[in-house]
Formats: sequence, structure tokens, C-alpha cells
Amino acid sequence: MNHLDTLIIGAGMAGLTAARLLTHRSESLALVDKGRGVGGRVATRRWGDARADHGAACFRLQGETQKLWNDIYPGLSLQDAPHELDPGAWTCPAGMSALPKAMAQDLPVELQQSIETVERKDEIWIARSKEGKIWTAHKILITSPLWQTADFFKTTQPQLGLEIQDLARLVEYEPQWTLIIKLPSPSQSLGAVYQKNPHPDIASLYDQGRKGLPHAAGLWVLHASQGFSATHLEADPSWVMDRMMTALRSLGWKLENAEAQAHRWRYARVKKPLGRSFVTFASAPGLYLAGDFCLGSQVELAAQSGWAAADAL
Ligand SMILES: Cc1cc2nc3c(=O)[nH]c(=O)nc-3n(C[C@H](O)[C@H](O)[C@H](O)COP(=O)(O)OP(=O)(O)OC[C@H]3O[C@@H](n4cnc5c(N)ncnc54)[C@H](O)[C@@H]3O)c2cc1C
Repeated sequence: MNHLDTLIIGAGMAGLTAARLLTHRSESLALVDKGRGVGGRVATRRWGDARADHGAACFRLQGETQKLWNDIYPGLSLQDAPHELDPGAWTCPAGMSALPKAMAQDLPVELQQSIETVERKDEIWIARSKEGKIWTAHKILITSPLWQTADFFKTTQPQLGLEIQDLARLVEYEPQWTLIIKLPSPSQSLGAVYQKNPHPDIASLYDQGRKGLPHAAGLWVLHASQGFSATHLEADPSWVMDRMMTALRSLGWKLENAEAQAHRWRYARVKKPLGRSFVTFASAPGLYLAGDFCLGSQVELAAQSGWAAADAL
């Protein structure tokens, strides 16, 4: 068992930002994530030698969060995001996951630990993972989506779990199906490098080669439309891929020998945030919640929320 001053659950932008700030201030700190890598929804998937950004495509850091650069900028290569994505934003030529990886350097991150329960006993927070590890801490910052956070308390502190569910009802989350498509020849797409709403089931299509990602010629990222993603959230990934390939064929794409991978983002974006920088509870001293559900669905706003929570911690 590891006894800590502060435990942070979730190594996405909110958790990593908080950890970077607290690492100099907190006596002992750990960051736990269920993923195989850090970054959460700032995600890059490898496909052979190639890479595609299937989460956030670009980002901005301004105001207070820009101070993060003092720490991480020297080790991070950046370029202006292509104008069709977001003029004035940045992207990482090695893939967007280079940003969270640079932020996680020198931080005590434990990956592939999926937290199942959290509870407070004798003024100490106790977190247990599905993999059998236990952490105890004076303070705990949780950055997972609110519905998942509520589940941590369902059996241990049901009243607190219900309070978090009440908060989750105030937030509008949108799911998203995302596909990475590999064409045997780049010219088979017949399209511009970026297309918005080219089909009722497709919100956007983006050529990863355009972003300068290594070996990405012929790799496209497709985000399904909100309507399609919400209606078919529980569908089988292979069925979703078939539907999207049919939609692309109807647009004139030649898909012989094309391959695809699908990713279900259950809490992809926040349509309506809470409008508070972070959350605390009078009934649960030492518990802090942060993430993009607080201020809005952007890398920068998630970082701002983590920053504010760390300041309060
Ligand atoms: C498809 C897509 C495209 C986007 N495009 C952009 C864009 O172009 N620009 C932009 O600014 N923003 C974009 N966003 C939004 C942006 O990615 C998010 O707002 C931001 O990354 C959220 O950060 P976060 O730290 O709040 O949450 P997350 O990144 O979700 O981090 C939460 C972390 O908690 C971990 N976790 C969850 N449950 C557990 C558990 N039980 N145990 C342990 N760990 C757990 C997760 O693994 C995750 O790493 C996009 C999002 C998506 C999905």
C-alpha cells in the first residue's frame, strides 16, 4: 500500500496539469490511469509505422496554462495546426500524444490501473484498482468523466455517489464514434484534405498526411456525426465500420483493400459544462473533481480546470 499526500486519478490533460503544478508543492504524489499510455482523449494510435490522432486534433494553451511551457516546451516539437483545423492552434508532428507524454516526464504515473472504488475512512482517502492495488492519501483529485466518478462511490459512499450523479445530470456529454481508415493509395479518397459534414452520418474527415504525421499518407480520421454516434453508441464496432464504409462509397471513395479501426468515445465532448473551475464537497473534505466537464471541451480548458484544482489543493 502506498500512502501519499495527494493521489490523482486520470492522466489526461486535467490530471497531468495538476500533477505538474503539485509535484513541486506536494510531499508525495501519484498519478493513476487505466490506459496503456497517458493523455486520455489527447490520443494517437500507431498503425504499423504510421500514426493517426483519433482524439484531439490540435490544441491551444493560453493565459495561465501557457506557463506550463516553462516546464515542457524544451522537449516538445510543435507546429502550427493546418488552417482548416484551427488557425492559431498547434499540433505535434510526432502525434498529439507527444504533448501528454512530455508533460508526464518525471511524474510518478502508474498506468493500467483501473480504479474501482474510492472511500474516506478515518480522514484518509482509499482508492482500490481492479488490478488489486490500494493507495491511501490525504487528498484526492479525480479527473474521470462524472458518471464514471460517481461509480467509484456507489458501494462505498452511496450518498456521495448520488451527489456526483446529480452534478453529472447538469453536464451534457456527447459520445463519438471515430474511425481510422487506411487506403492502399492516397488518391482513392477523391476528396479535399478536410471535409466537414460530407454525409449525414459523418461529422468530419481528415487526412492525417496533411498534419505531417510520419508515414500517414493514405490514413484518414473520420468522426461520425453526433446523431449517428448517439443512436448507435452500443453498436458493434464492425457494424459501425460497415456503415461508415458504405457512406464513404456513396461519396465516391474507392475502398477496395481499405482497412479501418473503430474507437468508441463514450464521453467524447462536453456540450454543456458545469461552469465551475473544479468541484469540492462540504461532506467530503480533501476530495476534488476536475476535467473538461467543468469549463468546456477543449485541451486548454481541461488544463485550466486541473490548474485551478491544483491551486486549491
Ligand atoms: C474525438 C475528439 C476530438 C477532439 N478534438 C479536440 C481538438 O481538436 N481540440 C481540443 O482542444 N479539444 C479536442 N477534444 C477535447 C479534448 O480532447 C478534451 O476536452 C480533453 O482532452 C479532456 O481532458 P480531461 O483530462 O478532462 O479528460 P480525459 O482526457 O478523458 O482524461 C481522463 C483520464 O481518466 C482516466 N480514467 C477514467 N476512468 C478511470 C479509472 N476508473 N481508473 C483510472 N483512470 C481512469 C482515463 O483513462 C483518462 O486518461 C476532442 C475530444 C475528442 C474525443
